[in-house]
Amino acid sequence: MRTKNTQADYIDLVDQLKRIPILQIFDSYVGGKLRHHGKKAVAACPWHGRDSSPSLTLYVDRNNWYCYGCQKGGTVIDMVMVALGVDFKTAVATIARDFGLRTCQIAPEVKKKIQQRQESRNIDVAFEADYERCYLVLLTLKNDIASKLSTYYEFEQNQKLVHTLPILEGIIDELSSAQAQADKLRAWRLARRMLIWLQTMNP
Ligand SMILES: [Zn+2]
Repeated sequence: MRTKNTQADYIDLVDQLKRIPILQIFDSYVGGKLRHHGKKAVAACPWHGRDSSPSLTLYVDRNNWYCYGCQKGGTVIDMVMVALGVDFKTAVATIARDFGLRTCQIAPEVKKKIQQRQESRNIDVAFEADYERCYLVLLTLKNDIASKLSTYYEFEQNQKLVHTLPILEGIIDELSSAQAQADKLRAWRLARRMLIWLQTMNP
């Protein structure tokens, strides 16, 4: 037979729920692409009109959130209230059930959803890291080549490099200015191809 939670138990449960990482709550109940900037992450807000410059901000260190568009925010519980359109008590009961607090297990379909979102986030993180790496390697190579072409004599001797430099600069430009995911992917592919090509000619 279940015993009714006491008031103290309930407050304790709410405290526990508020400590579930905001990123995990976002992944489980909201979803969407996140951009990480140090201790915060931003996403397009699904709760107000077109959000072309992402205004939903998750503060990872404080474990709370705020949308600068609809001016809503708060704890992880507030996020679930807004995401599911439910009251405080229902949000608490839902998170507790889904995260297995005071119950035995996370529902399998929720667990699967959480896992899928985490996997796709890991892929995003890996891509961003390789993107950054390509950018830095190309920048270093560009500076190397530029320094090899500092005198007229060297300029004459390294015709191949002379032609490489503007192409390299173009790709670096694209890498640093691409915003949309499709543009980033394009710039990244160009960068990868350039890196392979540069390796074969070994400047
Ligand atoms: Zn909003």
